[in-house]
Amino acid sequence: MSDTVIRFDLPQSDIPHHWYNIQADLPRPLPPVLHPGTHQPIGPADLEPLFPMALIMQEVSQDRYIEIPDEVREIYKLWRPTPLLRARRLEKMLDTPAHIYYKYEGVSPSGSHKLNTAVPQAYFNKQEGVSGLTTETGAGQWGTALSQACSFFGMECVVYMVKVSYEQKPYRAAIMRSFGASVTPSPSSLTQAGRGILAQNPHSTGSLGIAISEAVEAAATSGGKYKYALGSVLNHVLMHQTVIGQECLKQMEVAGAYPDVIIAPTGGGSNFAGISLPFVHQNLTAGKKTRILAIEPAACPSLTRGKYVYDFGDTAGIAPMVKMYTLGHGFVPAPLHAGGLRYHGMASVVCELYDQGLIEAQAVPQLETFSAAITFARAEGIIPAPEAAHGIAGAIREAQAAKEAGEKRVILFNLCGHGHFDMSAYTAYMNDELTDYEYPQEAIEAAMAQLPQI
Ligand SMILES: *Cc1c(COP(=O)(O)O)cnc(C)c1O
Repeated sequence: MSDTVIRFDLPQSDIPHHWYNIQADLPRPLPPVLHPGTHQPIGPADLEPLFPMALIMQEVSQDRYIEIPDEVREIYKLWRPTPLLRARRLEKMLDTPAHIYYKYEGVSPSGSHKLNTAVPQAYFNKQEGVSGLTTETGAGQWGTALSQACSFFGMECVVYMVKVSYEQKPYRAAIMRSFGASVTPSPSSLTQAGRGILAQNPHSTGSLGIAISEAVEAAATSGGKYKYALGSVLNHVLMHQTVIGQECLKQMEVAGAYPDVIIAPTGGGSNFAGISLPFVHQNLTAGKKTRILAIEPAACPSLTRGKYVYDFGDTAGIAPMVKMYTLGHGFVPAPLHAGGLRYHGMASVVCELYDQGLIEAQAVPQLETFSAAITFARAEGIIPAPEAAHGIAGAIREAQAAKEAGEKRVILFNLCGHGHFDMSAYTAYMNDELTDYEYPQEAIEAAMAQLPQI
């Protein structure tokens, strides 16, 4: 026991040289993305006002591997490869025969996996002469990562932060400003989209969908000075995150094990895709049979209760339309303490895999999530981000199922971020002030009634 290894580190030479693009291996191609006005499939030219051509080409690429530029790998060296750990103390606490491993992305300077894509996004924009990036942030993880990435490349960063988070998490805005970003609570009066929302509801506390509308508008009307960056959902974002799973493949080999099940929380789908797609590749091409399990909040159950239809990516209906499991772009989330999981839709890649039966999904309620977070923290010593705690709740369910079945299952989950800036949520939980929110069926149906007719 005393010589049992529990931490599997890789040398920096093992930072992946390529991102893995699942589009090359999907049994059925992704449904086309449609223009919000014409409802026709959009082409690269339609995306040019928002994204640099290099990222647009990555978005539609069918190449299996895309090379990671040296400049990006140099910055990845600040925290990659991230550690893989065996949660021996958690296994003991749960008295489970399962072996539980977790990949820890919270060691990045921004505290989550988001920097894996923020850095290449800033890099490719800089290459094409863009002077700054606009974006939205909910919980603040993405705004933090993008503000760091922009400062690495000497670029401006303009952040629209969901108002309720801006008020709940003042330190997040302080961090972004430390890196030189400007941070505006959304809805704001700086954009037409924001003014429209405020006219309807002056007390709006905002949503990710509204903040996206504002950030997209700010880029599209900047005359090319700014482009827009999204922290999740898009194909190229998910692809950048595959450094996580590629490292895990090597680390599991070092550990002498292979996962029976991989578990990750899903908001827009990027950390889930990041850890799991390289293993889906093994399932599709090497006869492996790893179960891949997405965990979402019961209060925002896009995969488990949404419909697989075309919907707008944002609230105002100015972003492109994507076929996805959606709760409707008019979805107004409960004030859940996992801001990063409150998006109404889901990445197209994740939706296709789910629709094709290649992955599974479960929804977990908020109280179970925080209980899992506390159990994990006391066992392993890390306070997880509330988003990440959803994955932990899923892993604990799986470890308990393994115990009931008397099976030594190998579980791998993605601990995609730490929760050091989420302590007000933990305080609320420990003061018994949190409740479960089951999203009401009537609200889902009302939001569904506003879906665009394709
Ligand atoms: C943003 C974020 C999420 C949700 O986004 P995904 O694209 O689904 O990964 C989950 N966890 C953390 C820590 C985040 O920062």
